[in-house]
Amino acid sequence: MAQQVLRKAHNPNDCFPIECAELVLPWLTPPELANVSMTCKSLRQVSHSITLRRSSDASRSFENFPVPFLNTTYPPYAHFIYTPSLLLSSQHLPRQPWGGRSVISPAPALSAESVSLVDESGRVVSGCDCRDACSDCPCSCLDGLDVGRECGPGCRCGPECGSRSSQKGVAVRVKIVRDGRKGWALCADQFIRKGQFVFEYAGELLTTKEAQKRQQYYDELALHGRFSSALLVIREHLPSGNACLRLNIDATRIGNVARFVNHSCDGGNLSTKLVRSSGALFPRLCFFALEDIPEDEEFSFSYGEIRKRSNGLPCFCNSPSCFGTLPSEDT
Ligand SMILES: [Zn+2]
Ligand SMILES: [Zn+2]
Ligand SMILES: [Zn+2]
Repeated sequence: MAQQVLRKAHNPNDCFPIECAELVLPWLTPPELANVSMTCKSLRQVSHSITLRRSSDASRSFENFPVPFLNTTYPPYAHFIYTPSLLLSSQHLPRQPWGGRSVISPAPALSAESVSLVDESGRVVSGCDCRDACSDCPCSCLDGLDVGRECGPGCRCGPECGSRSSQKGVAVRVKIVRDGRKGWALCADQFIRKGQFVFEYAGELLTTKEAQKRQQYYDELALHGRFSSALLVIREHLPSGNACLRLNIDATRIGNVARFVNHSCDGGNLSTKLVRSSGALFPRLCFFALEDIPEDEEFSFSYGEIRKRSNGLPCFCNSPSCFGTLPSEDT
């Protein structure tokens, strides 16, 4: 066996053992994969099958359903690191295999199991002591209009509890479609009823300083060509007065399917809500169907207060109330 592998490795027509290629190539970025595929015929075949598998599931098997890229010419898929939930920002971009045969296990969600959280009035909000399905649970009682509440890492109940519906990844079938003008767009791949939870906005959680630094860098990149960032700034107004929590979620390098949702000046078909899981340090930005959404319809929502910028990117939302440019955060 070892001899066979060695012979293969020394055969100029078969420059690299195929068994190794199957293990190594899924870790490569698209430019690296393109380089490797030019070296010999067998590597070209392996990288071709990896490209096919990548374009058949953007979620890298992290979600309940595969998320295909459709209608693509070039590039056949978008390359980013997938996370089904919020992560703390990392200076170094991790490598993550994609397109191999093996299934990878999900990264742990951001939580604070050992932390007791206290709300504005000093009440401990770490979680409930329910042992049943949390049908009459203090966690879900706190559900408000602007901020939702669910059970979380601080609760005694398990993952089968009924008050954790937004914590199980993308809840519906979706697909990523190439649009001539907008670039990538996220569409429904099934009927979705009004009010249904669809997905959260997952990505890197940034400090405001880091968010400003990155936005500046992304703006420069956008000036020099087609580049779209996916950095969202969410402000949560706390009930106790003027205090305001600012959440910066960047899904540009690391994120989930929500990074493909385009802006619509008329508000789109998705509503957003911050959902706090008991015991978790940060709320999550969750999307719900604002109306019944038929299969194939594109998802969209309003990126926020419309702020025109001279160098704003053009908006192609097609709604009668279109402002012509995408809203952007003045940092
Ligand atoms: Zn409970
Ligand atoms: Zn529960
Ligand atoms: Zn609970």
